[in-house]
Amino acid sequence: MTTPLVEMDGDEMTRILWEMIKDELLLPFVDLKTEYYDLGLENRNATNDKVTVESAEATKKYGVAVKCATITPNAARMTEYNLKEMWKSPNGTIRAILDGTVFRAPIIVKGIEANVKTWQKPITIARHAYGDVYKNTEMVIPGPGKVELVYTGADGSEQRALVHDFTGAGVVQGQHNLDNSITSFAHSCFKYALDTKQDLWFATKDTISKKYDHTFKDIFQDIYDEQYKDKFEKAGITYFYTLIDDAVARVMKSEGGFIWACKNYDGDVMSDMISSAFGSLAMMTSVLVSPQGYYEYEAAHGTVQRHYYKHLKGEETSTNSVATIFAWTGALRKRGELDNIPSLEAFANLLEKACIKTIEDGKMTKDLALITTISNPTVLNSRDFIVEIRKTLENMMGK
Ligand code: NAP
Ligand code: MG
Repeated sequence: MTTPLVEMDGDEMTRILWEMIKDELLLPFVDLKTEYYDLGLENRNATNDKVTVESAEATKKYGVAVKCATITPNAARMTEYNLKEMWKSPNGTIRAILDGTVFRAPIIVKGIEANVKTWQKPITIARHAYGDVYKNTEMVIPGPGKVELVYTGADGSEQRALVHDFTGAGVVQGQHNLDNSITSFAHSCFKYALDTKQDLWFATKDTISKKYDHTFKDIFQDIYDEQYKDKFEKAGITYFYTLIDDAVARVMKSEGGFIWACKNYDGDVMSDMISSAFGSLAMMTSVLVSPQGYYEYEAAHGTVQRHYYKHLKGEETSTNSVATIFAWTGALRKRGELDNIPSLEAFANLLEKACIKTIEDGKMTKDLALITTISNPTVLNSRDFIVEIRKTLENMMGK
């Protein structure tokens, strides 16, 4: 390695896995260079959460980060960790600084079958993470009366539109979004499609929402035509826009292998549908891509708190480390690509293959053993599973 990865350590069971992964699967094989940031809750509290901001700034400097799952504090965590403040979600802080979009994709393994028979390849969901119903203003309308939208321009100009002339009680809601945010979302999506050589789908309800949703459609189309069309054609991939209901119907009949860009609410709903239909949260990867092309890789799941408490009691755990390993391989491959180190890319690819082969050979953690179609799987504990992946990897390397 020539440039360090930004390494963001985390909490609970995933922090335990993090160290095992480094010891067994990375340090023996890679001359690993990282700039280490401890995002574990204790250190976030000790640094007044400065460490989170610093790790995001470092990601801007180096371009690629790998992150362990972290606790988002709630009332219970305030007492458990004796916190000075209910620190914000690190993912939220990092996403705000990098202005990025999160792409979530399942890891496909034979023997862990998708519930939708036609899905042979991963479907990656990109969720726009700003605005719409998540930043709405609502009002309960008690009885007859007029509701209007009023815009007062900084120059004093005014626009008005009637929402509804109520004759009885009802409800009303105001939503907004920003051209800047939609533009960043579009760039992240086009960049990631080129990066992974997958088609990009985008859908809204622009036939009904002729200004709001139509703006999303137009911004995507203009950016595509001006900056990405040639690159997409060269890469042999397509950008495809359709209505959201048509997209849903097509997704169900597709074989997968594309990126589905979703508005905020659609992404919230569809990402849960896609991840549960593909089998297991423990097999979902997640990458934050900024419009400038900075990348932060992680697992989609949390810190697996329940398993951690068992671990603390000295009980055996069988926690699946695959998504966390894929966070490392994603980051290492990207680093290899950016720094032109083919051997680093090759190692990342091989380690992924070793994970998949280990499971396909019937050796897996409990979460997968419960849903696999492979008969008589061997259920391994957290460490033995990682050790087994190492053996597969060494066999593949001919050691
Ligand atoms: P979680 O860590 O995703 O785990 C929920 C349940 O899913 C687990 O109890 C386990 O089920 C199963 N599971 C998830 N990952 C697994 C794995 N790798 N291997 C095996 N089983 C797995 O969610 P949580 O327990 O609700 O949240 C714990 C903490 O994570 C919270 O403090 C939350 O703030 C944080 N969180 C962080 C992130 C992030 O950093 N990106 C994301 C989500 C949540 P069983 O118990 O049935 O085995
Ligand atoms: Mg949700």
